[in-house]
Amino acid sequence: SSIPKIVILGAGYGGILTAQRLQKELNYNEADVTLVNRHDYHYITTHLHMPAAGTDSIENTRVSISKLIDEFKIDLVKSSVQEIRLHDKKVILEDGTLSYDYLVIGLGGEPETFGIPGLAEHAMTIRSINSVRLIREHIEYQFALYKNERRPQERINFVVGGAGFSGIEFVAELADRIPRLCKEYDVDPTLVNIYNVEAAPAALPGFAPELVEYAMNVLEKKGVTFKMGIAIKECLPGGVVLNNGEEIRAATVVWTGGIRGNRLVEAAGFETMRGRVKVDEYLRAPGYENIYIIGDNSLIFNEEGRPYPPTAQMAMQQGVCCAQNIVAAIRDKSMRKFEFSNKGTVASLGRGEGIAVVGDKKYQGWKAAQLKKLVDLRYLFIIGGIPLVLKKGRFL
Ligand code: FAD
Ligand code: NAD
Repeated sequence: SSIPKIVILGAGYGGILTAQRLQKELNYNEADVTLVNRHDYHYITTHLHMPAAGTDSIENTRVSISKLIDEFKIDLVKSSVQEIRLHDKKVILEDGTLSYDYLVIGLGGEPETFGIPGLAEHAMTIRSINSVRLIREHIEYQFALYKNERRPQERINFVVGGAGFSGIEFVAELADRIPRLCKEYDVDPTLVNIYNVEAAPAALPGFAPELVEYAMNVLEKKGVTFKMGIAIKECLPGGVVLNNGEEIRAATVVWTGGIRGNRLVEAAGFETMRGRVKVDEYLRAPGYENIYIIGDNSLIFNEEGRPYPPTAQMAMQQGVCCAQNIVAAIRDKSMRKFEFSNKGTVASLGRGEGIAVVGDKKYQGWKAAQLKKLVDLRYLFIIGGIPLVLKKGRFL
């Protein structure tokens, strides 16, 4: 048939928003839309630090995709993308092949290990439901082992590599969780060490210094030991080696040292920087009028020529814009230039604590923690309306 085929890869922040907007704007039989995702659920990446530490449930962190889209309008394919074949406009899945006229790539990023030896093998990462389930179970198991072995200190030493937003948010949850685990497993809390190692001179490089100081104070009070201006040089099966020669023995190493674009994107032959593609003003890959790249795999520069950090809010706005542009392309109408509108940055620091910058206003403590909940609830509302807010929202 002559109906254009639109294929969306990835049902993350970018992919879901694209699918929902297409489903809203397209007329009956105007296009075939297929959404491909490895799992039949969408996970709320911005929430993963909580189930990773065990301070919230997995179920509050994922939503069944069929609840978010209209399956009469969008074909949902649960499969893993293996290869994007640009020359014959095909996507190879683990169990089939799809051809497309328009392709949206929203596969999300991957942990960047910068080639640091041992990290890929021995450190855990916060990237999916499966990876955070592993972290949570692993941590709890260390406490159990500690009591059954000869109290080896490395069982209750914890290393978090990188103090960007992911590292800080995770270490805060971990610090909230440890006292409860100590109680449950009869471990003296003063024996436990939580190290957050950061290569830059301070946590959250580039963020408002007074809020960084506030965050570090809150976390130090919760028992976190910061090692600043020191890089992880190597990861071993039972710890890390730092660039000052020090070795920290720890059975648990969680790497939050940065992300890169998905390897499938560079494997497809696009020109990339750390796996991310510099897209044009309409969010298309250079040289491909029919391919849109959004979210953590795209690279967009601000007026000063610096790349925007890859965030959920960026992915969401791109999802809406690329859907509108695909509809415009199909209808031979003019497309909209993407412009990022920054709604602010909010980070949680565990229960009742947070930091936030909204416009030129800065918030810390309880207010920022409430803002974080608001942002989370707003997202649930956008993708699933009131029912999803009531089902998965955290109000307390
Ligand atoms: P993702 O949301 O990562 O979605 C990618 C999707 O593609 C997933 O569903 C995945 O299963 C699927 N997929 C991947 N590979 C394949 C494959 N081969 N085949 C099929 N499907 C595949 N940003 C903020 O703005 N605010 C925050 O508070 C915030 N907090 C964060 C906290 C943590 C702990 C982390 C890790 C990140 C946080 N971020 C935050 C960043 C934000 O989560 C990402 O920028 C955002 O998720 C990117 O969206 P995306 O659509 O590109 O990809
Ligand atoms: P990041 O790149 O922002 O931070 C990684 C940190 O690890 C950096 O501070 C870096 O200096 C450090 N690092 C790198 N190599 C190291 C080494 N060898 N040893 C020690 N430290 C090392 O990565 P992230 O925190 O995962 O964030 C990824 C993206 O997601 C960012 O764009 C971020 O803004 C976004 N995010 C936002 C929020 C939020 O808004 N609340 C939360 C999480 C993530």
